[in-house]
Amino acid sequence: MTKKIFRSIFIVAVSVLLAAIVIIMGVMYDYFLSVERNQLRTELTLAAQAVESNGLEYLQQVSPDGCRLTWIDQDGAVLFDTQTDAGAMENHAQREEVQQAFQTGEGESSRYSSTLTEKTLYRAVRLSDGTVLRISTSLYSVPVLLLGMLQPICIIFILALVLSIVLARGISRRIVHPLENINFEQPLENNTYEELAPVLTHMEQQRRQIRQQYTELKLRQDEFNVITGGLKEGLVLLNDAGNVVSINPAARRFFQVGNDCVGKDFLTLDRNPELSRAIREAEQSGKSELQLSRDGHEYQFNISRVESGEEARGVAILIFDVTDRLLAEQSRREFTANVSHELKTPLQTIMGSAELLENDMVKPEDRPRFIAHIRSEAARLVTLINDIIRLSQLDENTELPWEMVDLGQAAQAEAETLAQAAEEKHVRLTVCGSARLYAVSQLVHEILYNLCDNAIKYNVTGGSVDVRISETDWAVTVSVADTGVGIPPEHQQRIFERFYRVDKSHSKASGGTGLGLSIVKHAVQYLGGVIRVESTPGAGSTFTVTFHKQ
Ligand code: ADP
Repeated sequence: MTKKIFRSIFIVAVSVLLAAIVIIMGVMYDYFLSVERNQLRTELTLAAQAVESNGLEYLQQVSPDGCRLTWIDQDGAVLFDTQTDAGAMENHAQREEVQQAFQTGEGESSRYSSTLTEKTLYRAVRLSDGTVLRISTSLYSVPVLLLGMLQPICIIFILALVLSIVLARGISRRIVHPLENINFEQPLENNTYEELAPVLTHMEQQRRQIRQQYTELKLRQDEFNVITGGLKEGLVLLNDAGNVVSINPAARRFFQVGNDCVGKDFLTLDRNPELSRAIREAEQSGKSELQLSRDGHEYQFNISRVESGEEARGVAILIFDVTDRLLAEQSRREFTANVSHELKTPLQTIMGSAELLENDMVKPEDRPRFIAHIRSEAARLVTLINDIIRLSQLDENTELPWEMVDLGQAAQAEAETLAQAAEEKHVRLTVCGSARLYAVSQLVHEILYNLCDNAIKYNVTGGSVDVRISETDWAVTVSVADTGVGIPPEHQQRIFERFYRVDKSHSKASGGTGLGLSIVKHAVQYLGGVIRVESTPGAGSTFTVTFHKQ
């Protein structure tokens, strides 16, 4: 802007200067011409009077300074000339000034020389005898005069040029200075040109509007960040060029990137070809889905095209960790298959025995044995179904009544229930210690029953089972130790799985369903405790359950 103002001022100054020179030169030349004319007139008047009285004699004596006198006869023939031989001169009757003088008594004209370097002024007057006396003088023409004055003109021009540069620079700076120092943060506080007031007012309005919009936008962005930041699912928004617009913390963890990936191409986050293909598919068809395994987890990708009106704006990628769901589905499938199998076996036995009895194919003396077999298999089924019902109750997390439970009493009760089984196996079952715990009584009994039942079932004849209940300031511990067959280390973690048995035939022979320890584990978890097992094959096992006091 400074340059533009400077240039404008400079051009104006130079134009004015040139115009002034031309005008002044013109005026001066005119003035000079009129002075010359007056002088010619005066000199001609004097010369005419002298010729009237002295005739040719005067002309022969006179030597006019810078002027030329010519005496012309009535027919235009030159009678005398102060510079040239009159005889050699052509007839002057047709000369403009001479004609005027013949007609009106006076005449005047001017003519340029052939080279245009000189201008000759003529003035003629008719004398009383009818002859004409003419005076002429030569002046330099305007271009010659200008050429003659070129040096001073140039000096003046250069000086004026320098002055106009300095002034133009100063003025343009002074004009621009207030504009350069406008405070755009506070437009109304500027004390500058009043012509700028409407602009500054408009600017202030826009500034307020922008600030308001920015605050609203920031608020919404913060809300969006808080919402997406709290999401367990990963969320990535891409624009139509495939660049990351937004990525929440869960997605950043998944792709192992920082927040600086915003604005970058999605390929800098992940180069998985399947994922790239799914994104392209969503861009074209509207949505796509994909399942990927990463770091031992299974992830589900739901990709949708984001549209605004008819136009596609980008895609939204939602990432779910579906590992637990898949594992749950898998274990549910396994559980269903196992349950079917476990139910089928006793039912087939019952069906087979019943058919034999029905068709009278059993000897009368064997009938009681068959009937007892049917009854024991049916009892197994009932136990199995009860266990399944209990497990599904625990799975569904149904509300159970909490109360203060005396663990010593509960253990004694279960010991009594299992006394016969222990006696049959010649196992000595003892309970020592006591503690009160805020728990669900039914589950406590469940835990104690199953642990003691297993300790008896998988014991050796003449072995023992010790149930110990102890208490510290922060926890209550129940341990069930036996002197039985023990559990090999590789099975110790798996015995809590549904239908998992170390020795299938032993378990079935002893009426096990394979669900006892699963129920124990679930019940312990429901009560907020932990269970661990220590076992040495051939020496025995100890199951320890710890409940933290609330
Ligand atoms: P089951 O009905 O077969 O007893 P559980 O879930 O109670 O089912 O136990 C799972 C498996 O763990 C049993 O089949 C058995 O092999 C093993 N087990 C459980 N308790 C003991 C124990 N006290 N001593 C040795 N093995 C045990």
